[in-house]
Amino acid sequence: MQTLTWFRYDLRVDDNESFLQSLGSNKNLLVYIFDENIWRDQTSSTFHLKFTIDSLEDLKNQLMVKYNAHLNIYYGDTLEILKHLIKKYNITHVNSNRIFRGLLTNRIDNTCKDLFNENSIEWKIFNQFGIQLSKRNRSTWSKDWRRFMSQKIQNQSDVKCKFIFDSMMTDYKIKTNIIASSVIQSGGSRQAERLLDSFISYRGTEYQSQMSSPLTAETSCSRLSPSIALGTISIRTIYQTTLNKLKTDINTSHKKSLKSFKSRLAWHCHFIQKLYDQPSIENSNLNPAYDGMRENSFDEKKYQAWTDGETGYPFVDACMRYLKETGWINFRMRAMLVSFASYQLWLDWKITSKYLARYFTDYEPGIHYSQFQMQSGTTGINTIRIYNPIKQSMDHDKHGHFIKKWVPEISDLPDVYIHQPWLLTPIEMKSTDFKFGERYPHRVVENTKSTQLAKEKIWSVKTSKTAKEIAKDIVKKHASNKLFIR
Ligand SMILES: Cc1cc2nc3c(=O)[nH]c(=O)nc-3n(C[C@H](O)[C@H](O)[C@H](O)COP(=O)(O)OP(=O)(O)OC[C@H]3O[C@@H](n4cnc5c(N)ncnc54)[C@H](O)[C@@H]3O)c2cc1C
Repeated sequence: MQTLTWFRYDLRVDDNESFLQSLGSNKNLLVYIFDENIWRDQTSSTFHLKFTIDSLEDLKNQLMVKYNAHLNIYYGDTLEILKHLIKKYNITHVNSNRIFRGLLTNRIDNTCKDLFNENSIEWKIFNQFGIQLSKRNRSTWSKDWRRFMSQKIQNQSDVKCKFIFDSMMTDYKIKTNIIASSVIQSGGSRQAERLLDSFISYRGTEYQSQMSSPLTAETSCSRLSPSIALGTISIRTIYQTTLNKLKTDINTSHKKSLKSFKSRLAWHCHFIQKLYDQPSIENSNLNPAYDGMRENSFDEKKYQAWTDGETGYPFVDACMRYLKETGWINFRMRAMLVSFASYQLWLDWKITSKYLARYFTDYEPGIHYSQFQMQSGTTGINTIRIYNPIKQSMDHDKHGHFIKKWVPEISDLPDVYIHQPWLLTPIEMKSTDFKFGERYPHRVVENTKSTQLAKEKIWSVKTSKTAKEIAKDIVKKHASNKLFIR
């Protein structure tokens, strides 16, 4: 039995069923492929690349130390590389963990499936998210998920195989969208384990009350999202570690925080389930009644202002600039950035989602497109939430510390104007030497008017008979009962 073990979005050794099961074969070729089509896609960037390279370095080390095994790394067209390896090593079996990354990877997987069939190769695929692959049952989803996440974590298996050393790519000249920044998170399983440990033991004690402000979320949130997206740690490990901590003597707010964190792990998989059930959500409105609503309203000037963090709304701009520098921002601020683009600027989520994907080090298509559609009102089943950027600013950055750091050009304005600099009177402008359009731009839209307009447009579709009819089917297909896991 000659096995090719294909590492993909599961760059870990522990609780990696595909890898651990492959140790029983005779010869084993451990493979990771940088697929050129994925890396050239508009959603990929050097943020993901850096995190992936860190994670591969760590995986290579762990494989060597624990198993004396080599990881063979390639760059190019997945199908061509696999064809070559299958022939060269007379591969009879392929092991991998199931991934759900949208249409492009589905296409790659389909061509690989054909290749394996043509060569009579058995492709064993292991589930790592507790997704219902067939016989979708909404009422048992949460229970099934919990059962899956409670299964024993596998850390070590007997090694019967001989590992094959084929090549080692040392020069990572991957072609992808280049983003200049030096401060994104480091990848690798050990880093993920450290993050989990510090979050569970002390960083996350006030998670629930501190997750919404970008000032506190940076350290109070787990920051595990890129690690989960790339699979450097399993969700099962995170889930069980959290459960174990909940059984110890911790105070009420810590307990509440960890419970709320635990629910989000289920949400993660629930959104992946949506993408599995309907892969088209990455490119099409979940509810087609909304088709044509924004598609022809693209405004380059507004888009540019939003992407550059130059909208004239200090908190929106601060969030965009922070994200572009660090590769991460908290949930509420992501929702506000998208709401601002989709409602106030009336930009199509199909364009803005691709742009932000490059900056989210944790880009996870299932969550990403579901959330973009929810925050843009195109599902027809969620409450329409148009975030008021001024209220968000006052609620989550009361003293303007975050704004002053990320929009330094207005940091010397009196505090009272930091959230709404347009309220400065001509005399105050003169005394602070502040001129709109020079140091900081005029508002790209006037919030009250743009919100009113957006409300009219979205409600006219939401209340239509077609939108309501389609919404009923969407609820049947996608909503999961009892998702909010205790
Ligand atoms: C428009 C938009 C796009 C998003 N795109 C992504 C994305 O591409 N990748 C991604 O991982 N998250 C995405 N999120 C969800 C959320 O913002 C991030 O998961 C979270 O901010 C990551 O930080 P953390 O790991 O510290 O999260 P924590 O708050 O510590 O949560 C722990 C884990 O739970 C999961 N999680 C948390 N919130 C959600 C949620 N609302 N829905 C589903 N799962 C959740 C994530 O896996 C996260 O790592 C998006 C949210 C919005 C509004």
